[in-house]
Amino acid sequence: MKVRNYANVVTRILAALKKSERLSIWYRSLSQAYPLYCLHYAAKHTDAALIYVCAGIHGDEPAGVECAIRLIESLADKEQSNLYPFPLDEYNWLISPCDNPYGYEHDIRENAAGLDLNRMFQHPCRYTETAFISESLLRTQDHNDNPEVHLALDLHEDRDSSGFYLWERRASTTLPIGNEVVLQIGHVCPINQKAVIEDHQNDNGVITLLDSVTTKGWTRGRYLAEQINARCLILETPTALDLDTRVKTHMLSIQTAVKHAMKSH
Ligand SMILES: [Zn+2]
Repeated sequence: MKVRNYANVVTRILAALKKSERLSIWYRSLSQAYPLYCLHYAAKHTDAALIYVCAGIHGDEPAGVECAIRLIESLADKEQSNLYPFPLDEYNWLISPCDNPYGYEHDIRENAAGLDLNRMFQHPCRYTETAFISESLLRTQDHNDNPEVHLALDLHEDRDSSGFYLWERRASTTLPIGNEVVLQIGHVCPINQKAVIEDHQNDNGVITLLDSVTTKGWTRGRYLAEQINARCLILETPTALDLDTRVKTHMLSIQTAVKHAMKSH
C-alpha cells in the first residue's frame, strides 16, 4: 500500500532546479513512476570542498529524504537558505535525495525486488539503484577540478532507537568529528546512550568503524570508504519522534559535520 507520493519529491526537485543555475541534475529511469535523481551544486569557488549527502536507501526512513530535499531547496533559493544560518552555498554538493523511491512510497526498507540496497555495494552495477549511486559518485571524478569527496553523510533512521546516534566510518589517521555532531544534536534530540547497538560499541551516540570494517556487510558507507576514499557519517534519527524534529536533527548534523570536517581534514 502506498503511504507517500514520490511524485511530490520529483515536483519539488524539479522546481528547485529551475531556480538556480548552480544546480545540475543527473537522471536515471528505474521505471516510469520512479526516476532516480542526483543533484550537483557548484559553489562560486570551484575549489570548494565537495560534500555528498544521500538519503532514502531504506524506504521506511523518510526524515532523511525530507532533509535532503530541503537542502536542495535551500541551495536553490536564497530566501530558503536564510532559514539555516550556515553558509551552505560555500560548498560543492552532490545530493542523492531518494535512493529507493518504491520503498519510500510503500514505507518499506527494501526495493520492489525485496532487496536491502544498502547491502548491495560489493557489485553496485548489478542493480539499477546502486549502479546509479555508484556512477553518480564516480562522475564527480571528472566533474570539477577538486573531485575528492571531503565528507559523505548518509541519512538514515532507526525504528528501535529511543535517540539519535551515528556511525563514523573513517581512516584511523583521520581525526573523529562524530562526537562534535552528537554534542550539538543533544540540544535538539535525545541521544541513544545504550552501550551496544547492533553488536557494536556505542560511545555516547558514536559507533566508530575504523579503516576497513566489514561487520556491516557491503553498505554504501563501506563503498564510500573503500572505493571513493571518503570519510562518512551514517546518521540515525529515532523514527518514534515527530518528523520535523528528525528533519532538523539531520540538517543540524550535516552543518555541524561539515564545519568540523573542514577543520580536521
Ligand atoms: Zn537505514
